Amino acid sequence: MTALPGIGALPYGVFSTADDPHRRTGVALGDQIIDLPAAVRRLDPSLAAAVAGPTLDALLAAGPATWSALRASLITWVTDEAHRELLPLVPAADAVMHLPFTVADYVDFYASEQHATNLGRILRPGQEPLTPNWKHLPIGYHGRAGTVVVSGTDIVRPSGQRPGGVFGATQRLDIEAELGFVVGTPSTLGQPVPLTAFDQHVFGVCLVNDWSARDIQAFEYVPLGPFLGKSFATSVSPWIVPLAALDHARVAPPVREVPLAPYLDDEKAEPWGLDVRLEVRLNGHVVSSPLFAGMYWTGAQMLAHLTVNGASLRTGDLFASGTISGGSPGSLIELSWNGREPLRLPDGSTRSFLEDGDEVVISATAPGPDGTPILLGEVRGRVTPAAL
Ligand code: CA
Repeated sequence: MTALPGIGALPYGVFSTADDPHRRTGVALGDQIIDLPAAVRRLDPSLAAAVAGPTLDALLAAGPATWSALRASLITWVTDEAHRELLPLVPAADAVMHLPFTVADYVDFYASEQHATNLGRILRPGQEPLTPNWKHLPIGYHGRAGTVVVSGTDIVRPSGQRPGGVFGATQRLDIEAELGFVVGTPSTLGQPVPLTAFDQHVFGVCLVNDWSARDIQAFEYVPLGPFLGKSFATSVSPWIVPLAALDHARVAPPVREVPLAPYLDDEKAEPWGLDVRLEVRLNGHVVSSPLFAGMYWTGAQMLAHLTVNGASLRTGDLFASGTISGGSPGSLIELSWNGREPLRLPDGSTRSFLEDGDEVVISATAPGPDGTPILLGEVRGRVTPAAL
């Protein structure tokens, strides 16, 4: 059973059907999808240009005034019976979901104190687990946009060089459960984006599985950071939940223990912590339930940091939070403590890292209006044998 985002979320995606194979934009509504171009033609042609095309790119680029207008219209259409009867609906079970937007640049952060602390303890035992920079800035790196794939895409086990320069298929294939932020409005080269402009630029969020080959990563990452151990595939959920749907999920971030540079100081800013609760399933068994709410760095701080040097934003930029390990860890390297304490699954098997044929599903919920949780959908992927 595929978890679909709920009515409160009204998230956007791109779908096709066997009857009508052209890709078009849609909105999830329970177990159905609103055919967005058809709905707009019928109910509000002024929005036609924003929802046209085989991706969400035009909507992302249209900016916050259009995002608000479209969401307000959608809320009217789904709650008012006379409008609802006119909505062109497609059963979600009949739809194939596609990568919802053209990914421009992809950046991955490292914003969970619990994850960074666990990794520090595992990889650098006996030393201070957090590096000296960690509480001064959200650490990140530029990833590979061209290998961001939609949920359901098989993940071919990558090959590369493991410690000692031994070539072969990774023996330590891992997951990273993350939240991704999708940029709509571009910014100007040379002009940093302040914390207060976060929701003017970011359209919404998706779920991310940042697949990681720990042995390849361990051998290659010094001194320039992750490369082939990460770039083979990054999976995203097909539904982009607009920021406006997360109004009820906003919470204060943790207390800042180190004074922050002015561009990151959010003490007096609107809070951008998010009470998003994830669930990680391995072959159908829940292995972890990470919580986003305690993330040390917020999405607004990540955006302010990645532009503070004047780097510009493009429509379709994706930046992810890094592994979410509050509550419980969002990666197998932490869950199995680097293989020392393998997970025992209810079917009797054990796992330290992923085996061929394993399927991982990450889903999430957040508080919605009236205390009803909204579903953020899911990101799913199955491991297939190595090509080399
Ligand atoms: Ca990551």
